[in-house]
Amino acid sequence: MLKPIVEYKDVHKSFGEVEVLKGINLDIYPGEKIAVIGPSGSGKTTIIRMLMTLEEPTSGDIYVDGKNLWKMEKNGEMVRANEKHLREIRSDIGMVFQHFNLFPHMTILENCMTAPIHVKKEDKEEVRERSIHMLERVGLGDKLNNYPSQLSGGQKQRVAMARALVMRPKIMLFDEVTSALDPELVGEVLEVIRDLAKHEDMAMVLVTHEMDFALDIADKVLFLDKGIIAEQGTAREVIEQSDNARLQEFLRRFR
Ligand code: ADP
Repeated sequence: MLKPIVEYKDVHKSFGEVEVLKGINLDIYPGEKIAVIGPSGSGKTTIIRMLMTLEEPTSGDIYVDGKNLWKMEKNGEMVRANEKHLREIRSDIGMVFQHFNLFPHMTILENCMTAPIHVKKEDKEEVRERSIHMLERVGLGDKLNNYPSQLSGGQKQRVAMARALVMRPKIMLFDEVTSALDPELVGEVLEVIRDLAKHEDMAMVLVTHEMDFALDIADKVLFLDKGIIAEQGTAREVIEQSDNARLQEFLRRFR
């Protein structure tokens, strides 16, 4: 039987007194495309940031590829994977942020090449070839030697995607990747994600407000509300068949 590539087991997260995640249980299967929707502040970003170890859960366990990324000891203390496991786990996961986080002093080709060469110690020529291929894939084959400042927001976001893809992750996380873009640039970025969803077999988790888009490409939709997964299922089940009043209200606002 297919095993999940990511498992959240009763994960809680508090910031100070405020509990923003109240027991998340979630399995992500290889190749699965998941859209996470829900009101602002419901905890969507926090869920995926814990996978990047950008946030530490307050309690619970998270496994990646069967390995403990976060583990809660019997005494309640949280332990993170050791450095060796962490490196392995991190190389399985790519993330694209709302703000592109490109290195401004590097060309876009160098932006794509730096992690595989310096972190994964891969062969430079092979990485260069793969990077060029990925940049062509996102429609930027003619900009290899440009610097980020010479690109539009939509182009920068496509570089950020190519850079993540060059690492050949098993899971890609997209955190509201279109919300910092001018409206006329959103379409080109969504088109690249749609193409990846269709042709790449990695798992994808998208936190998004682009509702119709998410519903279109997602195998599974999670509706997060006040720190719990209030609904989950296929797009059809969540959107058309749920009688959850808060979900209905949310959809009315966003569609
Ligand atoms: P969403 O992505 O659904 O908008 P977030 O996961 O970003 O929600 O945030 C959930 C809640 O946690 C929000 O109320 C937010 O203000 C709070 N929060 C997120 N990060 C921090 C932080 N580093 N410190 C304090 N509060 C935070």
